[in-house]
Amino acid sequence: MSEAPSSGTPYPYDAPASQALFDRAAVVTPGGVNSPVRAFRAVGGTPRFMVSGTGPYLTDADGREYVDLVCSWGPMILGHSHPEVIAAVQDAVSRGTSFGTPGEGEVALAEEIVGRIEPVDQVRLVSSGTEATMSAIRLARGFTRRSKVIKFAGCYHGHVDSLLAAAGSGVATFALPDTPGVTGAQAGDTIVLPYNDLESVHEAFHRYPGEIACVITEASPGNMGVVPPRPGFNEGLKDACQKNGALFISDEVMTGFRTSRAGWYGVDGVRPDLMTFGKVMGGGFPAAAFGGRADVMAHLAPAGPVYQAGTLSGNPVATAAGLAQLRLLDEAAYVTVDAVSAQIRSLVTEALTKEGVAHRLQNASNMFSVFFTDREVRNYEDAKRQESFRFTAFFHAMLAQGVYLPPSSFESWFVSTAHDEQAVQRIADALPAAARAAAEATAE
Ligand code: PLP
Repeated sequence: MSEAPSSGTPYPYDAPASQALFDRAAVVTPGGVNSPVRAFRAVGGTPRFMVSGTGPYLTDADGREYVDLVCSWGPMILGHSHPEVIAAVQDAVSRGTSFGTPGEGEVALAEEIVGRIEPVDQVRLVSSGTEATMSAIRLARGFTRRSKVIKFAGCYHGHVDSLLAAAGSGVATFALPDTPGVTGAQAGDTIVLPYNDLESVHEAFHRYPGEIACVITEASPGNMGVVPPRPGFNEGLKDACQKNGALFISDEVMTGFRTSRAGWYGVDGVRPDLMTFGKVMGGGFPAAAFGGRADVMAHLAPAGPVYQAGTLSGNPVATAAGLAQLRLLDEAAYVTVDAVSAQIRSLVTEALTKEGVAHRLQNASNMFSVFFTDREVRNYEDAKRQESFRFTAFFHAMLAQGVYLPPSSFESWFVSTAHDEQAVQRIADALPAAARAAAEATAE
């Protein structure tokens, strides 16, 4: 473990082996990474190339160990290399890796999901959260025979073309493409509204009667930092959908099987028509799902006319990993994860308060993030008002001391059942210097 960075040095420790890999990667892969946030663009410095993970720890190519507060962006809720998950994977692998036929593992995983989440009558397995949300929206459009979709600014649902959309010139007007490569037509059926603002939802339904197929929302957003729904918001969305003949899609790719045994539904009890899942349900493998009302799911091929498919959907190794992980996630596991999260949150608050750093810790059960602002963050506009330069200094000070945080201030932090006293102590030891670095940071 290294000591604290000297102030004023943005990236105080080099990571020569990671840098060499990053240089090699940049030749053959755009930006050197296979998913943009991994490149550290928001915080600068060298992304750490990890070589192994055990319990709450990751080890990088330079042999340095980190307490992991990213947990693969959510999936690793039992920590890395959980022996029972690894054993299930080894057992599955020993029988073959993909058959392109139905198999018992996918039935068992679907039964586990349906058994846990009451509004889900049926589920279809896919390989990524993006596929899940894309397919759920297609199904909602096919079912309602309508085109338009409402989403919220700051909510991320994967890189679905129609959802990579930015708010248009006024509330309830059509969205604009948020990235080159998405056409005006693809974004044009999307309406992007401010999060936690029911009025704008009512206005959109009023403006486009009989045209809106669905509202999709993160059950409790974690992709603009953690911004929970205000009391009654999800309920209000559900009611507005019901009154207007639209479907309510709750995206639980991040919150599903993480915020409780039944995800965010287990917390707020608002019944969606369709739900999407990923991350935790794959046990660290590419497995995701969408599901919900039986009468809606009946529209999906081959039972119904809405096409959807996947060569590796329900892959036997991925389903074995997911099933093993879900079966280990009993009520006691959530009590553990929630308690660790609460402990780390209070340590962070204590350290930042001591240094007089304005901040706000927001959580949705065990998901949490720190905003460097003293105001409540209710939506994406609020989130953007934070002093992100303080996060950059904080992040690098934690990294230098062996704590791996998400490399952006717009992301949730994740913990696991494996974060024991020793791991928490390492975080506690790193926090004072990181809080000092945040206090001393200045905007460029
Ligand atoms: N939906 C939510 C809420 C997510 O957080 C994510 C990914 O972070 C996705 C969908 C997309 O999932 P994937 O990255 O597996 O495509």
